[in-house]
Amino acid sequence: MRRHFAGFRREVAALPLQAKFMPRRASPAADACPTPILARSGMRRRWFRMAAIVMACLAMAARPAMAQQILRDAETEAFMGDMSAPLVSAAGMEPRNVQVLVINDPEINAFVAGGQYVWVHSGLIAAADNVNQLQGVVAHELGHIEGGHVVRSAEGMKAATGITLLSLVLGAAAIAAGGAEAGMGILGMGQQAAMGKFLAFSRAQESSADLAGARYLSKAGLSGKGSLEFFKKLQNQEYRLAIPQDDSYGRTHPLSGERINVLREVYTVDPAWDKPVDPALEARFERIKAKLVGFVSEPAQTLQRYPESDQSIPAHYARAYAWHKSAYPDKALSEVAALLAAQPHDPYFLELKGQILLESGKPADAIAPLREAVKATNQPLIATLLGHALIATEDEQNFAEAERVLRNAVARDRENPFAWYQLGVVYERRGDIPRAALATAERYSMMGDDQMALRSADAAMQGLKPGTVDYLRAQDIAMVSRAAVEQKRKKR
Ligand SMILES: [Zn+2]
Repeated sequence: MRRHFAGFRREVAALPLQAKFMPRRASPAADACPTPILARSGMRRRWFRMAAIVMACLAMAARPAMAQQILRDAETEAFMGDMSAPLVSAAGMEPRNVQVLVINDPEINAFVAGGQYVWVHSGLIAAADNVNQLQGVVAHELGHIEGGHVVRSAEGMKAATGITLLSLVLGAAAIAAGGAEAGMGILGMGQQAAMGKFLAFSRAQESSADLAGARYLSKAGLSGKGSLEFFKKLQNQEYRLAIPQDDSYGRTHPLSGERINVLREVYTVDPAWDKPVDPALEARFERIKAKLVGFVSEPAQTLQRYPESDQSIPAHYARAYAWHKSAYPDKALSEVAALLAAQPHDPYFLELKGQILLESGKPADAIAPLREAVKATNQPLIATLLGHALIATEDEQNFAEAERVLRNAVARDRENPFAWYQLGVVYERRGDIPRAALATAERYSMMGDDQMALRSADAAMQGLKPGTVDYLRAQDIAMVSRAAVEQKRKKR
C-alpha cells in the first residue's frame, strides 16, 4: 500500500489500543491523536491544521484504536525506491514489488511485519547521517523478509492480521478545501497490514538477517560502513539512555557487541568496503531528510537544525516546511523561491510551491507549478494535489481537467481515498451522479466500510449503463462488499 507525505499527506495506521502505547504512556488519550507534534506546537497555525487534528482524533476515537501516521511524499517514495532497488534485486526480489514506507514516529526504528514492505520511522531517517546508513538498515530488514521471519512467527501472524491500516491522505488540505465533509475523505483503508513494533525477532533470526543484509550490500556493491556506523550509533544511544527503549530498534532487533563484531569482520573484507557513497543519491537523501524533519518537527527545532545562515538546498527545503506549518506562507514561499532559483524546473520544488499556495487559499496560483510538476513526473500523488487545486478554484472551466487528472491518478494509485474523494466531488459538480456514487463506493471500499460501499455501489449501478466498465466495477464492489457484510453478520 502507499500513502503520502508531501507535499506530505498523512496516513494513519490504527492499531489495537493495548498493543502499542498502553504500557508506557501516562496519557494514552493524548497519544491517540495522530498529530501530537502539531497539537503541542506553541506557534501560530492555520485553523484547518487544528481542524485536521480534531478530525483525525475524532476519527480515531470512533474506533478502539491508536493511530500512527504513514507519511507519503512523491519525492521520498521515488528516493526510497531508487535507494533500495539494488538491495532488493540482490535479495532476489522484484524492486517494484517491495516498498519502503515512512511512518511518522520519532523513535529510531525500522521493521517488517508481513508483506513486502519495509517500514522506516521518520526518527530513523532524521538520525541517519548518510544514505549508506539507511541502506544498511534496509538491507537488514530485507534479510528478515527473505528469511520469512515474520511469516514463521505465530505472534507476528496474529499481529499482522489484527491490524488495519487507515489512511489519512492530505489531511490538512482536505479539510481546508472541502470543510468537514472532506474530512470524511481522510478515513482510511481496510487493507490488512501490520505494525512491527511488537515483533521482536529471535537472536538466530537477527544473525541471519545481518548476514543476509551483508550479502545484499556486497552484491549491490555497497559498503557496509554505514550499517556499522548506524548500529554503533544505536548502541551508544542505548547506553546513554541506560534502559532499552520499548519502541526502539534495539528492542525489535536485539543488538549486541557480538553481532557488531561479526558484521565488522564480514564487511571489512568486502571489495565495496572503501567504496564512497554515490554523491547524487546522497544529495537526494539530504533533501528528503530535510523535508521530513521540516514536516514532522516543531518549527523552532527545524530552524535550529537548519538555521537561516545555512543557504544550502536542504536547509531552504526544511525551512520552507517549518514556515508553512507555522502559517507563514510568505516566508515559506521565499524559501521555495530560493530553491527554484537554484533549480527552476525541479518538480518537487514546484510541487511544494503549489501546495503552499493551495493551502494558503490561492488555488488558482497553485495550478501552474503543479501542472509542470505533474508533467515532469506523472506522479499520482502530485496529480491528486493538482486535481484538488483545480476543484478548489470553483471554476467550472477547470473541472474537465480535474476529472482527467484525478482519473489518471487513481488509475495508477488506487489506494488513495483522498483522490477518490476529489474525483467524487468533480463528478458531482459536473452532474455525473452515478460516477460520483461509484467514486464514493471505491473510497468506502478502501476504507473498509462495506455497508457504505455496498450502498454507494448499488446507487451507482442504478444510473450506469449495464455492461460498461464502470458498471462492472460497481458490480464488483457491490458483490465483494455484500459478501463482507454478510460474513460480519454471521460472526455476530
Ligand atoms: Zn532485525
